[in-house]
Amino acid sequence: MTDPRIGAGSPLGAIVERYGADPNYLLQILREVQEQQGWISPDAISTLEAAMDVPRTKIEAVAGFYSFLYTEPVGKYRVLFSDNITDRMLGNMALLDRMAAHFGIKRGEVSQDGLVSIDTTSCTGMCDQGPAMLVNTRAISRLTAERIDQICELIRKEVPVDHWPCGFFQVTDNIRRADVLLKDGFKPGEAIAAALALGSDGMLEQIKASNLRGRGGAGFHTGLKWELCRKAAGTDHYVVCNADEGEPGTFKDRVLLTSCADQVFEGMTICASVINARRGFLYLRGEYRYLLEPLNAVLARRRTQGLLGKAIQGKQGFDFDIEIHLGAGAYVCGEESALIESLEGKRGTPRNRPPFPVTSGYLNQPTVVNNVETLLKTCMIARKGGEWYAKLGTPKSTGTKLLSISGDCDRPGIYEYEFGVTVAQVLADCGAYNVQAVQISGAAGVCIAPDEFERKIAFEDIPTAGSFMVFNNSRDMFEVARNFTHFFAHESCGFCTPCRVGTSLLVNMMDKLEAGKGSPADFMEIKDLNKHLFKLSHCGLGHSACNPVLETIAKFRPAYERRLVHKNFVPAFDLDGALAPARRLTQRDDAAAHFGEEHE
Ligand code: SF4
Repeated sequence: MTDPRIGAGSPLGAIVERYGADPNYLLQILREVQEQQGWISPDAISTLEAAMDVPRTKIEAVAGFYSFLYTEPVGKYRVLFSDNITDRMLGNMALLDRMAAHFGIKRGEVSQDGLVSIDTTSCTGMCDQGPAMLVNTRAISRLTAERIDQICELIRKEVPVDHWPCGFFQVTDNIRRADVLLKDGFKPGEAIAAALALGSDGMLEQIKASNLRGRGGAGFHTGLKWELCRKAAGTDHYVVCNADEGEPGTFKDRVLLTSCADQVFEGMTICASVINARRGFLYLRGEYRYLLEPLNAVLARRRTQGLLGKAIQGKQGFDFDIEIHLGAGAYVCGEESALIESLEGKRGTPRNRPPFPVTSGYLNQPTVVNNVETLLKTCMIARKGGEWYAKLGTPKSTGTKLLSISGDCDRPGIYEYEFGVTVAQVLADCGAYNVQAVQISGAAGVCIAPDEFERKIAFEDIPTAGSFMVFNNSRDMFEVARNFTHFFAHESCGFCTPCRVGTSLLVNMMDKLEAGKGSPADFMEIKDLNKHLFKLSHCGLGHSACNPVLETIAKFRPAYERRLVHKNFVPAFDLDGALAPARRLTQRDDAAAHFGEEHE
């Protein structure tokens, strides 16, 4: 007899059935279970285990990996305050404390009646309109004390989030400077028609001629990536759009997916025509859950317009469709091989490379993973030609780049520039003054001081995925770096020990300095730690975790020296304290059972 919990008529059964009980959809299924039930209970896991024939350990491992999935009960209203440094600068912690005091709880706690839980999360991609929060995955920006009080009232009255005032959920694009891409008068279908007229060889030639490089930060040549994938042997080829922009301070993909979704999907379709793919995925970060329905509506419209599905634009044999997968709060999934693991319903652990996704990606088949912005650019290249595109920007960095600008400036938002623009020009345009530093390309990027403001945004000088955070003279650059170290420790996926332990040690060192217990020897410790992290970590997160600290020590050393009151080194890890539970268990508290100066 069928278990009634998993029958098609049951709520869980309906979710599993919609995804065909396919383990590749495990993450999507878990996400929907949580949306339905508030958390992923042991019972729900048992049900999924039986319905999907997936081992319980695997379900638990996946559920435990993503920070937006809960295997312990949380509040009926799950409030997560965005905790990027720009949110801090806008007073997010005071707002969090205000809300927590209202419900008589602390950060990280659930209220006794189970009504609300309050915590922080990494940057939610609303830095141009912060401070921001997520309530049951819905994004709310421009928080003020008054709005927090209104939200507390709505929660007290248990008003469903869907019935809260629409104005709370308004997200504006803030496009402040448009260049060729954002000014483009694009009509759906035009770029596909142009690509089909060129033929797949011709289209690939145009992409190569444009010298287009990936806009996710690494700058790999798009034409080469497409060519390698197209030539790779496989039963199927896949196109993946990486919309998991998690780098603190970046939000350009949010805007492109809101206002230029047709171009994103059209770029994916052009790529499919070149590499012979029949299926594509858009991997959308969980913080942008609110975009899921609008994006699905665009996909549905494009199917009715003959721009997706079978025989696209009447071309027999050109069959391609796109589905959207949602992430669930894991920064590491922005790395392309981790993203593919996540697409396959697994933990988002980066793979060993080689092989690269172009030969062995989704389901081990040849896969192109492109950034949202890169795919938009391919539409322009299809219509206007690679040669036209290559004339924009600099020879090594052709075309334009979108910057997400936030922090201390009068006009935060999206700015499009030809590559080669100076940092000084960007600062003048966004209304920044008394600037002490700019953090470019997120926490893992570079922090530049005023004597470097003539440097250029370009792959040959300052490469960036787009994050551009401005700090004026009133800001404490130590606190900026400390915020980033907490970010890395929070986002370390835990797969490899050097990163898991190293990022925590780094946090301890920065917290120790903050507490006034640091000494100059800590700087050497941090340098040593960086060597280990760089050499032994499995992926870029571990490699770059010390960057913000090393950069700010080098360029803003007084911010650190102000905190040095100790001349002697005090370890960041309290070994003696950590051994206290063991001493209690063994009922030993003699001198030899302690570590510390007095017993050395
Ligand atoms: Fe995970 Fe860090 Fe290792 Fe990357 S370096 S795989 S984020 S633990």
